[in-house]
Amino acid sequence: MSLWEEDYNIPSFPAVTADDSADVIIVGGGITGITAAYLLTKANVSVILIDADRLVNGTTGHTTAKITAQHGLIYDELIQHTDKTKARLHYEGATDALNMIKETVESLAIDCDFVHKDAVLYAENDVYARKLEREAMAYKTLNIPYETIDGPPDLQAVGGLRMPDQAEFHPIKYLSSLVHYITKHGGRIYEQTVATDLSKDDRPEVITRVGHRLQGSHVLVCSHFPFFEGNQFYFTRMYAERSYILAIKPKQMPAEDDMYLNPEDPVRSIRKMSFKGEELLLIGGEQHKTGQGRATSSHYEALETFAKKHFGIERIVDRWSAQDLTTIDKLPISEE
Ligand SMILES: Cc1cc2nc3c(=O)[nH]c(=O)nc-3n(C[C@H](O)[C@H](O)[C@H](O)COP(=O)(O)OP(=O)(O)OC[C@H]3O[C@@H](n4cnc5c(N)ncnc54)[C@H](O)[C@@H]3O)c2cc1C
Repeated sequence: MSLWEEDYNIPSFPAVTADDSADVIIVGGGITGITAAYLLTKANVSVILIDADRLVNGTTGHTTAKITAQHGLIYDELIQHTDKTKARLHYEGATDALNMIKETVESLAIDCDFVHKDAVLYAENDVYARKLEREAMAYKTLNIPYETIDGPPDLQAVGGLRMPDQAEFHPIKYLSSLVHYITKHGGRIYEQTVATDLSKDDRPEVITRVGHRLQGSHVLVCSHFPFFEGNQFYFTRMYAERSYILAIKPKQMPAEDDMYLNPEDPVRSIRKMSFKGEELLLIGGEQHKTGQGRATSSHYEALETFAKKHFGIERIVDRWSAQDLTTIDKLPISEE
């Protein structure tokens, strides 16, 4: 269980027990499925949302919960491998998502620790400092606001690239309010309901493991890895990576209030988090292709060694890991 889940309980829901229908059937109750259900409900479209397990118990409940368009060293690579238009669209998409979350927090008055912070990429060696310089040039080309900095001193960095006005939040507090909105306005949510097949007739149907049929004009597959392959060969177009998070009470907090990411191998992702009145530090990283890592304990030990070196550890509060998917061209796949 992650600290987010320990800190806040999202409501629970029964399993599907009969055939049913709605305008849109949504499979997957992470941030993608719940956000889609919220936006459709708000537009007076009826929805049924199902999850195989518990809402937000997938990757969403185990994230670092930074909301940023920075995404590591990506813009220089996108310009080289695609073009400036696609690279700029990637930035705009992420910025629109941030703004949408902010507007939702404001309009529903959600108490979810949403706060604006700058995102900072930092480098620990000259090779990566030069990569940051190239990334800064890409920001300039794409008209992305940035500032080059010396790098956070408590991380012994040799260079840094700041993207101002990004954000962080508590994902479960935020999504719980969306779930409340969805059910209050007629949306139906079910847990412990596994989608196993999809029939794509005039009105598509999601078929559940126990044989119930959920019919809608549209089906949204928000199950992280698509549960329905069709002829898309998704397994050849993306790979899963596992990464690890350590939550600590440090002896010394970072001097500045930014969210940090070191894109070198091994990656380090750092942010502060309030938990039951205490200021903690989340330190993530150690990602590796799923099934190709060392012993699990060695990844946590590496994060612990890093945390001790830079901040000191008063107490380890929690640790967890989760998987994320990366596409071959690093751009999202969204298909009909
Ligand atoms: C350690 C870590 C840190 C991260 N930090 C950040 C960060 O700081 N900022 C950021 O933006 N991103 C971050 N990410 C990535 C981000 O958390 C994920 O991309 C995001 O949470 C994915 O959300 P999702 O809704 O698409 O998938 P999920 O949260 O995985 O939800 C998918 C849901 O679908 C359900 N499901 C699956 N199959 C079926 C089926 N057949 N039938 C019914 N239901 C099904 C699952 O039970 C699950 O609940 C991080 C990822 C990791 C691993």
